[in-house]
Amino acid sequence: MLNIAFIAHDRKKEEIVNFVIAYEHVFVGNTLYSTGTTGQRIMENTKLSIHRFLSGPLGGDQQIGALIAQNEMDLVIFLRDPLMAQPHEPDITALLRLCDVHGIPVATNVATAEILVRALDRGDFGWRELVDLHRPRLGV
Ligand code: PGA
Repeated sequence: MLNIAFIAHDRKKEEIVNFVIAYEHVFVGNTLYSTGTTGQRIMENTKLSIHRFLSGPLGGDQQIGALIAQNEMDLVIFLRDPLMAQPHEPDITALLRLCDVHGIPVATNVATAEILVRALDRGDFGWRELVDLHRPRLGV
């Protein structure tokens, strides 16, 4: 069972809902997290149960970032809007940076998300344990 986070900016919410509907059979059985509105929309349209954090602009990205920093997130699907400025741009940058720091697979568009979810379906995520051996250990 993996920990998976969903985030979508407003103009990407329909896309993430359709994506999660299409792969609901893969996501079910994992532990799912999301920012507030994204999770609400997904739960309204699927049978999935999602732990919802705050809305992104109110700190939801940072809450998901905290789980990444603790190595408690295995996959992040973050459909960002590349054509609209967001008020919480620093939080978005911070979240993506933490994915890079900790080697967490992150998809920022649905094409990459599809590839990652198919890998998840095949059980390809065992390599996360190997990556974990090489996680940066700062300050120790
Ligand atoms: P939301 O947050 O799911 O609460 O809309 C996502 C975002 O806009 O960053």
